[in-house]
Amino acid sequence: MDIHEECGVFGVMAPEICDVASISYYGLYALQHRGQESCGIVVNDDGVFVSHKDMGLVSEVFNSDILSRLPKSNMAVAHVRYGTTGGTNRNNCQPIEVNHQKGRMALAHNGNLSNAAELRSRLELHGAIFHTTSDTETIAYIITKERLRTASIEDAVSQAMNTLDGAYSLVLMSPQKLICARDPYGFRPLCYGKTADGMYVIASESCAIKAVGAEVIRDVYPGEILVFSKAGVESRREHCQKKDKKLCIFEYIYFARPDSVIDGVSVHASRIAAGKILARTHPVDADIVIGAPDSGLDAALGFSQESGIPYGIGLIKNKYIGRTFISPEQGARLDGVKIKLSALEESLRGKRVVLVDDSIVRGNTMGRVVKLIRDAGTKEVHVRISSPPFLHPCYYGTDIDSEKHLIACKHSIDEIRKIIGADSLGYLPEEALEQLARGCGFCSACFDGNYPTKVPKDTRKDRFEKRLSSIKK
Ligand code: SF4
Repeated sequence: MDIHEECGVFGVMAPEICDVASISYYGLYALQHRGQESCGIVVNDDGVFVSHKDMGLVSEVFNSDILSRLPKSNMAVAHVRYGTTGGTNRNNCQPIEVNHQKGRMALAHNGNLSNAAELRSRLELHGAIFHTTSDTETIAYIITKERLRTASIEDAVSQAMNTLDGAYSLVLMSPQKLICARDPYGFRPLCYGKTADGMYVIASESCAIKAVGAEVIRDVYPGEILVFSKAGVESRREHCQKKDKKLCIFEYIYFARPDSVIDGVSVHASRIAAGKILARTHPVDADIVIGAPDSGLDAALGFSQESGIPYGIGLIKNKYIGRTFISPEQGARLDGVKIKLSALEESLRGKRVVLVDDSIVRGNTMGRVVKLIRDAGTKEVHVRISSPPFLHPCYYGTDIDSEKHLIACKHSIDEIRKIIGADSLGYLPEEALEQLARGCGFCSACFDGNYPTKVPKDTRKDRFEKRLSSIKK
């Protein structure tokens, strides 16, 4: 519950001129869980790009007045962001728009390149000037550079993919075409669908495709490029099956919305399976199973189904806390967790409670949640975690960034139990991850250290800002 998601991408191409800005807005709304720092929509008005981007939630950045000022058109790309590279500022809002010698491009990206620093340095040595500190601009630069010597924008994307390494699900727009591409490992999800009246929609997750009234056609294959134009849909697969598939397993455990289906696997079913496995591998006598909202609810249901211990609601979340929530400062005698969550005494008093959550990162939040539940008059609190312990940082678009912040790197499971104040603690066994992915190849590097790509040297979120400030000195 301490981890931030990465980003969400969305694209639309309609057969007729229509309100693609509003369609994008509803698509972004369905993807809000993937990024709450900033969002944006770029509309293609007959080759002229008109955009609105800002810091904040979709509901804070857009209103009916702003949407009505975006032109009616047949194409748009959109993005919600939680920055995993590059600071939190307006400059880094996406989609990124670039003018180049052969036209314009708007680009939305989910993921992190593992070779972004090398690529950026190489470009800068050849005179490139960057306006943002996010690695998305590096991708935009490489595509537009390739575009100088290729016959089409999709050829440029394909050429760029020879250089990019790491996680990227892209949606981009030229004056004439909407294009999406998924990295050859397929780290981040990407799928597309169609409405009955012929409008194509691309999204990070199937929940956004359904939200705008379209039916999911399929997931974009790892390494695939899809080109949507007046001529129809073209699938290019020259980068497919070059790598073993490595979908981020944490999409199933935590990032994705439970009603999404990723690479043929239901996220909800995957979480139920995790809960069932936990009930078998870490059984306990208890009176009630509760989930930490919202990330632990499905796995808690699975634990209850397998163990026969009744499922109940024990924690209530304040649903209206957004990016602008100001966490109380130390010394203010207020606990941020208590403002976000409250314990339902009626369900918990006098009970032995199983609390299910998706992960423990530093342990501070979990410690406070356990205390909250204890203060509601419970007899015992048993914590079950629907993922293995985090032992390694992630380089592919999440903010699990340093071993020194990971509690499981410094403490044994029993020590963590004591630190969080639980009566017992059980994690999902690493071998069980396979059952969550159901035959879909996956990345589990943050648990086992087996990184699919070369590991970057500097992984700080603000590495490009830090470099800039050291140059100024
Ligand atoms: Fe996902 Fe962990 Fe792999 Fe990162 S390292 S992509 S969080 S499984």
